[in-house]
Amino acid sequence: MTIALLAGCVTSPEGRSQLALFSNQELDAQGAAAFAELSAQTPTLQGAQANYVSCVADAITAQVPASSGYTQWQVRLFDSDEVNAFALPGGYIGVYRGLLGVAADQNQLAAVIGHEVAHVLAHHANERVSNTALTQYGLGVAQSLGGEQLGSLLGLGAQYGVLLPYSRRQESEADVLGLDLMARAGFEPQAAITLWNNMERATQGATQPEWASTHPDSQRRIAELQNRLAIAEPLYRAAQSEGRRPSCG
Ligand SMILES: [Zn+2]
Repeated sequence: MTIALLAGCVTSPEGRSQLALFSNQELDAQGAAAFAELSAQTPTLQGAQANYVSCVADAITAQVPASSGYTQWQVRLFDSDEVNAFALPGGYIGVYRGLLGVAADQNQLAAVIGHEVAHVLAHHANERVSNTALTQYGLGVAQSLGGEQLGSLLGLGAQYGVLLPYSRRQESEADVLGLDLMARAGFEPQAAITLWNNMERATQGATQPEWASTHPDSQRRIAELQNRLAIAEPLYRAAQSEGRRPSCG
């Protein structure tokens, strides 16, 4: 197996310099493998709830620019009490049934899905795996690793590199980019603030979902989202006036 390594840095949508040692194709393949494994672990739900989740997710992904390379997304609702959701490189979105008890309406669900899709669009998984490679091997070695070592690095076993926790900075970035994305899709951005407040209450003492594990404290998160409303609210109003008014379940 040959894995192409791209030397150097790219720039995040927020203008931040990012390390990207791996190709997007390699990350997409990792996303596909991780999605297959997660799908094998937990039963998939069909029916009204699944249609509702797809309706919200489809409205969000319709706003993903074609230049991102992600034109097709698979959406799946998993039959699990877990309060969680994820999106993976390659265009995969998973929502766990338990989340629907906390994200109370389509706007709040859109806030979560927008956040997760923003991680993918900002190439956070590549950055995270690249930083891990750099820490473990050093730059020169990381750029000349053989396929086997890279395979183990990317976690071609039970644990996939694309599922490692995000950094606080990445979480903040996904919050603001996700807010813009949901607003462009015609979902009320104010709902993101309600959602994160609900989430804070719902997950206290429980297993921390993806977005809570390394996230800046909730007060800071709410403040950042409040600031971003100055950008997201006009995007929302434009979406509404252009006829993007999702009405999901
Ligand atoms: Zn996150």
